[in-house]
Amino acid sequence: MATFSRLIRAIVFDFDGLILDTEEPVYRSWLEVYQAHGEELPFERWVQIVGSTTIGFHPQHHLEERLGRSLPKEVLDRRIGRRTEMILAQKVLPGVVQHIESAKAMGLKLGVASSSTGDWVRGHLARLGILDAFDCLRCRDDVANAKPEPDLYLAVLECLGVQASETIAIEDSPNGVMAAKRAGLRCVAIPNSITARLDLGQADVILGSLAEVTLADLLRKVAST
Ligand SMILES: [Mg+2]
Repeated sequence: MATFSRLIRAIVFDFDGLILDTEEPVYRSWLEVYQAHGEELPFERWVQIVGSTTIGFHPQHHLEERLGRSLPKEVLDRRIGRRTEMILAQKVLPGVVQHIESAKAMGLKLGVASSSTGDWVRGHLARLGILDAFDCLRCRDDVANAKPEPDLYLAVLECLGVQASETIAIEDSPNGVMAAKRAGLRCVAIPNSITARLDLGQADVILGSLAEVTLADLLRKVAST
């Protein structure tokens, strides 16, 4: 354990669904629009975009195709309003702040790798008062390919000046876990209400919440895999 801890120099966090549960609000805001139009939002298609981008499934275009017409601007604006309202009601997920503080105390570097835009991630982290805790953020706009491709993790490693073997990723979605593993990192998965229904089996360790463990426990668990 002591040897392994010395080998670890950085922790990279995902943002959506890991630091803040934006996943349920985004899903619910679309679900409400689908239900108001008497349509079903296919969950198996929805999960393609969790942790990634809407390249695989675009909820607006899909519903417009089903209806055979465009959704009015008021409907789309109201959906964004509902999403924002539900996100603003969320607190930072349990254990996240404690792990950030522990990592700082241990002298580890901290990064964020997110398939969302830089404006989205920086805006929320600043609002939550934890933006300055991170040494480096890499978001959708910084790389050619979002998760599950490894680009975001490779970009964070370069920015932090660390190797994949020295870094642990913390993720909530299969797309995120795959991106981290493809970049060669060890990965801890913490499912949320949406991703708990998905297969996170590629992660090295799966926990119910970051609040279940100290950072030392987490490093020990990863070391024993
Ligand atoms: Mg995520």
